[in-house]
Amino acid sequence: MTRGFNFSAGPAALPEAVLRQAQAELLEWGGARASVMEVSHRGKEFMALAEESERDLRDLLDMPSNYKVLFLQGGATQHFAQIPMNFARREGVADYVVSGAWGEKAVREGSPYTRVRLAASSLDSNYTCIPSRGQWDLDPRAAYVHYTPNETIHGVEFHDVPDTGDVPLVADMSSNILSRPLDVSRFGLIYAGAQKNIGASGLVVMIVREDLLERCPRDIARIMSYAEHAAHGSLLNTPNTFGWYLAALVFKWLKAEGGLAAIGERNRVKAERLYAAIDASAGFYVNRVECSARSWMNVPFFLPRPELDAMFLAESKEAGLLALKGHKAVGGMRASIYNAMPLAGVDALVDFMRDFARRHG
Ligand code: PMP
Repeated sequence: MTRGFNFSAGPAALPEAVLRQAQAELLEWGGARASVMEVSHRGKEFMALAEESERDLRDLLDMPSNYKVLFLQGGATQHFAQIPMNFARREGVADYVVSGAWGEKAVREGSPYTRVRLAASSLDSNYTCIPSRGQWDLDPRAAYVHYTPNETIHGVEFHDVPDTGDVPLVADMSSNILSRPLDVSRFGLIYAGAQKNIGASGLVVMIVREDLLERCPRDIARIMSYAEHAAHGSLLNTPNTFGWYLAALVFKWLKAEGGLAAIGERNRVKAERLYAAIDASAGFYVNRVECSARSWMNVPFFLPRPELDAMFLAESKEAGLLALKGHKAVGGMRASIYNAMPLAGVDALVDFMRDFARRHG
């Protein structure tokens, strides 16, 4: 058996070069004479990795100096709750723009900690578009505006950064961080679970504008406070050292691939090829997302008859094309084509889809 092309939504495919390096270094890492998993997070080797990984991420994003980078745990879901705990007041308000299932979850988890306002939602389209900007009902007193630039389940992506004036913009970029160049200065806070474009699950990368950290309340547990994590270089307690190490390798890989401009161009081509194949299938395959909001990362699509689903999944798996089953909330198929998916993987999927449609159309 060989490795297939893995279209999993997350945990998702990692660059093969990164996995090979991790494999080669598993027993003895750098000069440590031990695995990276076996050394102190406060030792000089790990501290050097922490610093270099932050430097690489800053380089990749051309990050302004008034932003802090945090390497945290808890998954994005924990931060749905922790963000309002840190940046909103219980009696204040925070605005949420919801364009899919993850935005809904952010609302649900955030609600115990502040008055969550639904400023806009595209639920009435079954999340096949993003709420049109003219209809956003933003409160200028809101602590922040939260949105999900890429909805992993519904395959809906913002291709521009919304303007929220003086109200800080908070973005759950779990499924599209580092997929193209980004103007960090437009955001108050960016956070992402690592298991799609950064590395392995169990790590969350957060980029936060320094002035926001002054809002963190002092009467919460230190471990919940982003200001405390920032003050301690994300080493307040034992971090996910192996996850951090993998992220560091992925940042190096991205730089070697030419940075975010190059990876963004590759992602655009991958997405265009896959949507073009869907749209050229004479209705055999259908993607219901409004063209201007189609995700470059997650491509849901449907077959003409649900009874074909099981056959499509079995045959694609046999062909080495893995994890194409759609999320149960949407059904059908979903191809996730994050940074680590090579163009050859998308081409193999497109060839398979054409052949399958010819045989069953
Ligand atoms: N937000 C988005 C956009 C996601 O795709 C996911 C996971 N698929 C989450 C949040 C939740 O992440 P976690 O399971 O790491 O809490």
